[in-house]
Amino acid sequence: MPDASQDVTQAAVEAFAESYLQTLGASINKQDAIWNVELPADHPLTVDEQSITVGAGPRLEDDAADVLLTPESGFFYELLETALSAEPVGSAVFTTDTASVPSPVWLHTKGNYDTTFYPLYDRKAVCIWLRVSVETVSEYETEYLHAIGIDTQTDDFTPTLAAGLLTHLDTVVTDNEDTAPNSTEYQNYISTARNEVEDEINPKLEELQDKAATAAVGELDRYQQLRKQELQEIEERLSNIESQLADVSDTIEEASDRQARVEALTRREELTDEQTALQADRDEIREEIDAGFPDKRAEIRDRHAVRASIEPAAVTEIMYERGDLEVRDTTAGTVELTLPAAPGIGLLEPPICSRCGTEISEDNTGLPRDGDLVGVCCIDN
Ligand SMILES: [Zn+2]
Repeated sequence: MPDASQDVTQAAVEAFAESYLQTLGASINKQDAIWNVELPADHPLTVDEQSITVGAGPRLEDDAADVLLTPESGFFYELLETALSAEPVGSAVFTTDTASVPSPVWLHTKGNYDTTFYPLYDRKAVCIWLRVSVETVSEYETEYLHAIGIDTQTDDFTPTLAAGLLTHLDTVVTDNEDTAPNSTEYQNYISTARNEVEDEINPKLEELQDKAATAAVGELDRYQQLRKQELQEIEERLSNIESQLADVSDTIEEASDRQARVEALTRREELTDEQTALQADRDEIREEIDAGFPDKRAEIRDRHAVRASIEPAAVTEIMYERGDLEVRDTTAGTVELTLPAAPGIGLLEPPICSRCGTEISEDNTGLPRDGDLVGVCCIDN
């Protein structure tokens, strides 16, 4: 089962960015994956320049453009955040009046099939946008948005709605009387969504914590070695001082003139002072070793801690027209498949190959076979 929190696709990110930039009044000139974007003077973004190059591709190098546009990029996050903060509680309507059913790019072109959408009834859902921020010592802080769609009748997660919403965000988000995403009405949905995101990010957090723990152990080991080495050096120096003190005592006893005696006494005082200081250092290190370096341990553990926070950023109420998408064999005139779908969103369940479970997509298209959807993954061409 895919994550309830929909990870946004590169295509959705690009579609959103393009139309949102245009909403801001920007002009876009695309040259393959590089977009030359001319922003209006009063744009709300943090980039200083009005002319920027946007690298729209997951495989571009950091220096390929001024900013990169991918689902993980800061630029995408900023665009989304700017769009959402303008309307922290918005609403979206996906009906045959407001949107068309996306063309079924997942349907194989082999054979003669076409699709028709039949609306059945209206459904409601909410999409909770959560800002996730993770901070560790070894990695810079990462922030990203998770979108969780929840059906308000069944409380089921509806991941495809969240993805559909993102693709249409600029065109469907409308004014809403509500004020803040924290209002009581949304609290239950927010905590449901938060729990879901926690479950989803926990494996990643645990991985980060393991890495951090390994790094912390390594650092403590190096510190312990360093302190033991210091201790050894101190002990060597102390025994060296002891033999020097014995020599000085002999000199004092045997000193024939006053000058030599005063010099020897001064030397003894210096050595004794150094001895006292070194003994204190030695005792401190011995105590640390006996106790297992508790202070250093705590300091290192604190520095390597993985901190995560999940905060609600926005809420979007969604009304959508649920219906059937019929896949027909145009030659035989028969309905081969019926799949739940909605305008603007397409299929409500991500399609999978009924034989092997692989996702059906534009890259692994599917065909109706005996009432089921089967991917090219399982059909000999
Ligand atoms: Zn398959």
